[in-house]
Amino acid sequence: MESQYDHKKYESNIYKLWEKSGAFSPNTSKKEKPFTIIMPPPNANDPLHIGHARFVAIEDVLIRYHRMKGEPTLWLPGSDHAGIETQFVFEKKLREKNQSRFDFDRDTLYKMIWDYVKENTGVMKDQLKILGASCDWSRFKFTLDPDIIKIVYGNFKRLADDGLVYRGKRLVNYCTHCGTAYSNLEVDYIERKDPLYYMKYGPFILATTRPETKFGDTAVAVHPDDKRYKKYVGQIITIRGLIGDFKIKVIADKLVDPEFGTGVVKVTPAHDFNDFEMGERHGLEIKQVIGLDGKLNELTGKYQGLYINQARKQVAEDLEKAGLMVKIDNDYIHNIGVCYRCKNTIEPMIMEQWFLKVKPLTEVAVKSIENGEVKFAAKKFEKIAIHWLKNLRDWNISRQIVWGIRIPAWKCGKCGNWIITDGITPDKCKDCGSEKLTQDVDTFDTWFSSGQWPFATLKTTVKGDFEKFYPTSVMETAYDILPFWIIRMIMMGLYATGKVPFENVVIHGLVRDKNGVKISKSKGNVINPIEMAEKYGSDALRMGLLWGALVENDIALSEENINAQRKFSNKVWNASRFVSQFVGDAKFNKSFDKHIAGIVKETTKYLEKYQLSQAAELLYSEFWHWFCDECIENSKKGEIGSKQLNDGLHIFLKLLHPFMPFVTEQIWHEIGEKELLITSPWPRA
Ligand SMILES: [Zn+2]
Ligand SMILES: [Zn+2]
Repeated sequence: MESQYDHKKYESNIYKLWEKSGAFSPNTSKKEKPFTIIMPPPNANDPLHIGHARFVAIEDVLIRYHRMKGEPTLWLPGSDHAGIETQFVFEKKLREKNQSRFDFDRDTLYKMIWDYVKENTGVMKDQLKILGASCDWSRFKFTLDPDIIKIVYGNFKRLADDGLVYRGKRLVNYCTHCGTAYSNLEVDYIERKDPLYYMKYGPFILATTRPETKFGDTAVAVHPDDKRYKKYVGQIITIRGLIGDFKIKVIADKLVDPEFGTGVVKVTPAHDFNDFEMGERHGLEIKQVIGLDGKLNELTGKYQGLYINQARKQVAEDLEKAGLMVKIDNDYIHNIGVCYRCKNTIEPMIMEQWFLKVKPLTEVAVKSIENGEVKFAAKKFEKIAIHWLKNLRDWNISRQIVWGIRIPAWKCGKCGNWIITDGITPDKCKDCGSEKLTQDVDTFDTWFSSGQWPFATLKTTVKGDFEKFYPTSVMETAYDILPFWIIRMIMMGLYATGKVPFENVVIHGLVRDKNGVKISKSKGNVINPIEMAEKYGSDALRMGLLWGALVENDIALSEENINAQRKFSNKVWNASRFVSQFVGDAKFNKSFDKHIAGIVKETTKYLEKYQLSQAAELLYSEFWHWFCDECIENSKKGEIGSKQLNDGLHIFLKLLHPFMPFVTEQIWHEIGEKELLITSPWPRA
């Protein structure tokens, strides 16, 4: 053995050795209950960040431990198309070339993003290998693989046939200039000075920046605690309008800010996000008065055909003439959303979208948690999951983007009915026979398809995988996607297969910087996992990500911590070097064996309970302070013989292997073992 452990010299070769040995693929002929983890798929086109490294450290420990226990073990890797995020990144790149998504038709754009993602997906795979992830690459899946899409389509059709899919109206961010809806990520917020109009409104005076939407008002609202207006709440009042009088209800809602204007606001559910929310709560009518072309429509009388800004001026003038304008504050400053692309004001617009009725799905999901079919390693997350499930509203699954799975629904141009298929383009309308069919341009919300990930992957890898590995053993993921992903997988898994998708949920906290501050590009405190692995070794990084914080808690990671773990891997190397060369006889030391047995028992117990930091800390301190500081020193005094010391080292190497796979595997070979450590049996207490 060389006098120093140089990770750069060994790591990539060891990984290749493991890969070539077939150790990453499960032995499916074994009778034991398998151990399976479906990897949360990282974004296909992004390099890994430090949060990914934490999940690799955690999941790989579990996988390696169960593999050594002799169970058929599968860690199924994959990558995510990450709909909105990826399209956003791609459009940014287009802009650098002075192009935009509107320069291409839908199919061309999709193909371009596809190529871009495929080109970049290798980075993520290579990085997982650098981190030592012992996943089965032969079963790698991508969220847009055609066989995955087919399953997603099939379940959408089934949901529709079961009456759980419906068209509903929802507000979206719409740019009338670009002619498209945008996700929240694509709206820029700027501060702007606009006139604030105080107008007479029945018995009230109210302030608004948007008098032109008055024609779409379907309520007037005050705060429930506002004493000034309490007596009006629940009344129907008559308002003098520019195109005739109209009647409207006074509602009380907490969303109203009593400090804004006069504390009274008009409610226009079709053209304002807050108003839409109030409208849903109070069952208000949704009256759309602005069309997708940005012009006022037929419900606005003589104002029909005017653009929003023209209409605003005209309406304000006419209100003035009619004596309905009380005052205008010309210095009102507020935040408004503008199109990230053309900088025009974003117009909240009502659009029809697909919704999933979630109640039948959430009810069974809650039951599966309550009766222990799905267990959470940390109890606190069980409560959170149940809370989310119980409060989930019908799920809008339409997204106005190209990069994703296009919804298999066609609208009939003649009778207006929708036809949902399992992906096959219908040739005619089943209601009226018309051949004038147009496919919905929207794509599925990514959580709709990734909610099906555990069974969709296993049904499309190797024949028999689903039967063998489903339900999976553990779903391990970051805290922040618990409400989006975990609960959706439980809902969709139960619906599609009748079984829960996983038996255990292990949630991990965030990685923060050494001061406990959340890591972000803007704060400049990003820790690049690959740089760390290259500098200190993957083993050191992995230990650094487990050591010192419970899995479920946030961890403050510093370079000093990682360096301390590098010193530990050197310690393991040096001690192994000493032990392998040590020659010395002593009578059998009973307490030595007893102590080792205790460590095996403790470590195993911790691993069974997903208490990885406790296991890592135990091994670190027992190896360093007991094995090295005491036993090796005592062996020099003739108290422990070389045979016993050597056996002890072998056990330590096995126990440490899931945590520090590279250095332990290398030592295993250096000390003369012919078989691989990765597949050697886990020690018994
Ligand atoms: Zn725009
Ligand atoms: Zn039809």
